[in-house]
Amino acid sequence: TPMPAAAGGATPMIEQFIEIKAANPDSLLFYRMGDFYELFFDDAEKASRALGIVLTKRGKHQGHDIPMCGVPVHAADDYLQKLIGQGFRVAVCEQIEDPAEAKKRGGKSVVRRDVVRLVTPGTITEDKLLAPSESSFLMALGRVKGGAEHAFALAWIEISTGSFRVAETTADRLVADVFRVDPRELIVAEPVFYDPELKPVFDVLGRVASPQPPSLFDSASAAGRIARFFAVATPDGFGTFSRAELSAISGAIAYVEKTQKAERPPLSRPEREEQGSTLFIDPATRANLELLRTLSGSRDGSLFKAIDRTVTGGGARLLADRLMAPLTDPAAIGARLDSVSFFRSETRLCQAVRASLKSVADMPRALSRLALNRGGPRDLGALRAGFEAAGTIAELFGEATLPQEAASALAAIEALPRTLAAHLAQALGEELPLLKRDGGFIRSGYHGELDEMRALRDESRKVIAGLERSLIEETGIRSLKIRHNNVLGYYIEVTANHHSIMTGSDGAKARFIHRQTMANAMRFTTTELAGLESKIANAADRALSIELAAFDRLTAEAVGEADKIRAGAEALAVLDVSAALALLSESEAWCRPVVDASLAFEISGGRHPVVEQALRRSGEGPFVANDCDLSPEGGAKNGAIWLLTGPNMGGKSTFLRQNALIAILAQTGSFVPATSAHIGVVDRLFSRVGASDDLARGRSTFMVEMVETAAILNQAGERALVILDEIGRGTATFDGLSIAWAAVEYLHEKNRCRAIFATHFHEMTALAGKLPRLHNVTMRVKEWEGDVVFLHEVGKGAADRSYGVQVARLAGLPEAVVGRAKEVLHQLEAGEVSGKANRLVDDLPLFSVALKREAPKPARNDALGEALSAINPDEMTPREALEVLYRLKGMV
Ligand code: ADP
Repeated sequence: TPMPAAAGGATPMIEQFIEIKAANPDSLLFYRMGDFYELFFDDAEKASRALGIVLTKRGKHQGHDIPMCGVPVHAADDYLQKLIGQGFRVAVCEQIEDPAEAKKRGGKSVVRRDVVRLVTPGTITEDKLLAPSESSFLMALGRVKGGAEHAFALAWIEISTGSFRVAETTADRLVADVFRVDPRELIVAEPVFYDPELKPVFDVLGRVASPQPPSLFDSASAAGRIARFFAVATPDGFGTFSRAELSAISGAIAYVEKTQKAERPPLSRPEREEQGSTLFIDPATRANLELLRTLSGSRDGSLFKAIDRTVTGGGARLLADRLMAPLTDPAAIGARLDSVSFFRSETRLCQAVRASLKSVADMPRALSRLALNRGGPRDLGALRAGFEAAGTIAELFGEATLPQEAASALAAIEALPRTLAAHLAQALGEELPLLKRDGGFIRSGYHGELDEMRALRDESRKVIAGLERSLIEETGIRSLKIRHNNVLGYYIEVTANHHSIMTGSDGAKARFIHRQTMANAMRFTTTELAGLESKIANAADRALSIELAAFDRLTAEAVGEADKIRAGAEALAVLDVSAALALLSESEAWCRPVVDASLAFEISGGRHPVVEQALRRSGEGPFVANDCDLSPEGGAKNGAIWLLTGPNMGGKSTFLRQNALIAILAQTGSFVPATSAHIGVVDRLFSRVGASDDLARGRSTFMVEMVETAAILNQAGERALVILDEIGRGTATFDGLSIAWAAVEYLHEKNRCRAIFATHFHEMTALAGKLPRLHNVTMRVKEWEGDVVFLHEVGKGAADRSYGVQVARLAGLPEAVVGRAKEVLHQLEAGEVSGKANRLVDDLPLFSVALKREAPKPARNDALGEALSAINPDEMTPREALEVLYRLKGMV
């Protein structure tokens, strides 16, 4: 059903719907009707499919049925969550006047309605829709022509907490910078979005990115927009922003205004991030290292999950943010490490702080809801709980000498608004209802008149109970009841067989005013009862309005202190992260890394945090720690490259990743899984590990590998850390070997960066003779009764064999296949010595190193022996046995 364009002949309601829908074409319209949000036409079809709810019809439009479906208002959050999760945007359209008003206008007038809010993935604030430990960023891309090149900037906001940051970027960093923040929603001016040159960027980002009218991003009017939003004369005081940054900030603010309509979330002022202040991690590396999520999208199995010991939502979010953007300034990293060291040595304090932090509620998110007029008593309660915990924590520190980061956190905690804290403590009751509309959240003793009204209300209820007793006495009807409903209010009810006692014209009976006759009951009232009722209703009304006024006052006071509350909450998060990392370092036996401006990379006893914990959980034995040293040595200016060989399953990928993760953790300001670590700050981390399959986008595995390798070779500088796993695997052997060979030469000669290069091309180990900063290392294995045993130990030297056949056997390949594979391998090895492989390597002009090939290992008779021992006659058909016999004969 297409959305109708013209409204000719429509009912007034459908006419209104069509008009509002036309203004919000890219959102599903939640059209409020009583207790439901209804969806019509196309929207109804989409939503019923997405939500699995029934599609019905309501009336006709231009001769066709109008498809409709609806969700109850009280459960709307759940449905919103599902729709947002599936990438929809929703426009929430409310009745903005009392239906009685519409009636007064008479005739066919419909209730006035308008969209009060656009719910989009990046602008949600409801607790139900947000994961407590996950940030939910809205990001805006700004682009302006800056000289010959385009200049880009990104601004990102978390509406639910108010944080607001901005940074410049470039076309080639764009995707990486977006993934670093990992926003729920990226908004882009239409001309930028549809720029063919940027198509690959938005293809990668997919559904997260959406085009928006360019007027939102106009850098010329940005200053005015920013000033208006923050209610300042000029935004100059916020710092100096480039035009691209202004455009991005303006886009973010304009979008917030567009989606939140009348309400203003309390955003903090945009804070500028210097380019290069964080470790650049390209998107493929970020995905492959599984920092926040595994490649399959789950949090379990990620680095974050393995290291998160925080106890507050804010702490978890801060840790995730830090992990996604490790620092590059050794001093700033050192400051974070100092805090962790402090808590590590002050074990008792650390535990006490963590215990108090557990009662800290999510203050920034509560504050945002309050400011957006979506808050309730529990949001005020969250602030109260936070202030109380903050007070306890501040006391815990007493006179302790604190490292700088913890000291400034403490200062921010102490600066939390005490008057507001006192007001909340005085005003709020113990148990708080979710919604303010029914009252009951203000403590008794806080407000004299409120107490009076509540007493009056309760007193009158008692009087009514007394009245019921005396009426029973007076009439002699034992089953007489005084009841209450929303239509009649309070009324007296007697069963039908008693009504004659109540009705009649004598003086006593005339007191009873007939209200309603039911099938087997009659209802009456009296002037006395009506009087009591209005007293109760008035008292209750008055009590509620006193409570609501107090709510508004406290909310306004809290919103007025937004900056301080946010700063204090951030400080609590900082303490949570430091204490959690201290606890982690102790329970996991991690060490404090030395991070400086050198080019060192020296790890002793390094471990992979995720694999280590997984091995421990499954009881599969201890993780074998390994050293790694890529530091410049022997007067060399640049770091080293390790060429890592060894059989599949030997632990190569684990070793590669663990070193990358250690660098990330160290620069995040965490201790690291090692006995010692010295890391010269890494500015860019590149990896090519695992097969991140891009087949869906029509690239072969090999193509992806080459694209990623190209990016590394083009971008890595001497401060980079490069981790390459099995380059050249996805193509024919000689192609692959040549590419891997050339890539290592290039890394050594041109990029001159620290690198670990894992390969199954043993031929490459010859390069060590030619490239001075290249070292061969190998995963040690033992052979035992023809099987291989993985030691997971990295040692000097090169692997002599790849043990592929043995590994295949471990994997459960049928013995017959294993046996046959061994034969083929022997043949190949024998042939290869005199064959072209060696000549090719020898002929390489740049590196005519004499390759010392090993002699083909097993002599023929051994081969025969092995083939024989691989045979399992019990599992063979006579025919297979005969074939084997022929084959064995052929080997002699
Ligand atoms: P490769 O990349 O050489 O094929 P992996 O790194 O995938 O090998 O490791 C294979 C398995 O060996 C891992 O799943 C892990 O369980 C185990 N492993 C790897 N490294 C170690 C280690 N250092 N200590 C103990 N077990 C390890």
